[in-house]
Amino acid sequence: MLSGLSRGWLRPRGRKEDGRLSRASGSATRPMSLESDLIATLGPERVHSHPLELLVYDKDAGVTRGKAIAAVLPETTQEVAACVRLARKYQAPVVARGAGTGLAGGAVPAEPALLVVLTRLNDILEIDAEARTAWVGAGVLNLDLSRATEHLGLHYAPDPSSQAACTIGGNVATNAGGPHCLAEGTTVVHILGMEMVTATGDVVMIGSKAPDPSGLDLRGVVVGSEGTLGIVTKILVKLTENPPAIRTMLVTFDSIQAAAAAVSGTIAAGIVPAALEVMDQPMMIAVEGFIHGDLPVDAAAVLLAELVGLEAGVAAEADVVERIAIEAGATSVKVAADEAERALLWKARKSAFGAVAQAAPDYYLHDTVVPRTKLVDVMTQIYAIGESHGLEMLNVFHAGDGNLHPLVAYDAREPGSEQRVRAAAEEMVRASVAAGGSLTGEHGIGLEKRDLMGLVFDPVDLDAQARLREAFDADGLLNPGKVLPTGARCYDYDLGELPGGGAQ
Ligand SMILES: Cc1cc2nc3c(=O)[nH]c(=O)nc-3n(C[C@H](O)[C@H](O)[C@H](O)COP(=O)(O)OP(=O)(O)OC[C@H]3O[C@@H](n4cnc5c(N)ncnc54)[C@H](O)[C@@H]3O)c2cc1C
Repeated sequence: MLSGLSRGWLRPRGRKEDGRLSRASGSATRPMSLESDLIATLGPERVHSHPLELLVYDKDAGVTRGKAIAAVLPETTQEVAACVRLARKYQAPVVARGAGTGLAGGAVPAEPALLVVLTRLNDILEIDAEARTAWVGAGVLNLDLSRATEHLGLHYAPDPSSQAACTIGGNVATNAGGPHCLAEGTTVVHILGMEMVTATGDVVMIGSKAPDPSGLDLRGVVVGSEGTLGIVTKILVKLTENPPAIRTMLVTFDSIQAAAAAVSGTIAAGIVPAALEVMDQPMMIAVEGFIHGDLPVDAAAVLLAELVGLEAGVAAEADVVERIAIEAGATSVKVAADEAERALLWKARKSAFGAVAQAAPDYYLHDTVVPRTKLVDVMTQIYAIGESHGLEMLNVFHAGDGNLHPLVAYDAREPGSEQRVRAAAEEMVRASVAAGGSLTGEHGIGLEKRDLMGLVFDPVDLDAQARLREAFDADGLLNPGKVLPTGARCYDYDLGELPGGGAQ
């Protein structure tokens, strides 16, 4: 049977020339539009449709731009559901948006769509210190949760470098990682349940506090689905105990390859530190200019290693990390003397992209992942790719996870610069995949990597993913054009146009 998607239901009906959506059927005397229905539901202050107001929603923190029909700011789950039902009435696509710090274009409409902005669902609803759980609104900022639980000796473990700005809903949708996800696992490991508005505007509950919820466990399906399966409105997260002892080390090297070798060696020795982050010299210079943190800018690269646990274990593991680093060619090893020094090191790490953003007109942040044993090899290739395109490249990455973040600083006003950046990006992804890695370590697929999905999935895999998506959203109204390439199943194409005639 043909799916709704293949029949072209995705295309908004009755779209007027000004881009606003008219009512499919309605009163002849009172003009009705999606916008006026939204205003009737949320009030005019929370419905933005003026082109100037919409400028801020044109893009996320990446480079791709798109256009919204309108952006709405609901404050409750019921308002989110009402907005989805209205969009559905006008057959308008819906894109969920958190803080817009995504780097893959996930929150950027691929076609004119209603943006449902979740930032006002920002209440921490319940903290259960005994059960070590919290219910939060999807718009709660990641760092705000750890701040709110600090007095209880607890924190929310996934800590993307953007944690002061990104929402936990956005983290769920992208399965965000962070420096401390090496030992603790990425977002998916920390999500017990969530409330979600479906494509039909219904509200469903997925998962629960129970360790083994009955029925199909859909948490792993929704986490990382980038707003294509539903809009998450509330999230039940695990809280993690603050460690009794922490040792943070800054190790310098004469080459990035030596730093990468120390990372692979540490993991091979059976030690999984809380974090293993590498920064190269150009990035260190940019960060030093930004935060004046007394970084060793003469070194070619530094490794930031953090060990946590009981004091005796931390001390023993730190000795092993130091020995392995010296064997790999470390030129100095410094241990943070106190919490203030440690905080400064992490400030340096987490300010890296901000440092470049204030120094360069534009930047493009790559995100791939490779097996840790291939770090040295792929890093060497990545520098060569940057050089062959004449690009200024800076590197900082979650090395312990094999997650690479080459960052290219450029000026988009220079003719041809964006094309060179994108061509280099594709070569870097291909090099990572050829080494046994994958398309993205944590930022997601969004629009940026959608057309590269065929590098890691064959048509049968893609079709299975597209079928799953259709089960949640038969009409393809949620974040259309994202994650799965056109033709993965059908989208706005007829099945007959697919490779192989669309035989299913
Ligand atoms: C300086 C900087 C550093 C970064 N460091 C990291 C890092 O260390 N690790 C990492 O993983 N990422 C990192 N990122 C990327 C980004 O911060 C994450 O992807 C983050 O999870 C996005 O959250 P957001 O609230 O900004 O979501 P948005 O950018 O608004 O949206 C991202 C995606 O999630 C969907 N979405 C958002 N909210 C919801 C919801 N409630 N329900 C359903 N779908 C939703 C959107 O449709 C979109 O597809 C970094 C970004 C920057 C700018």
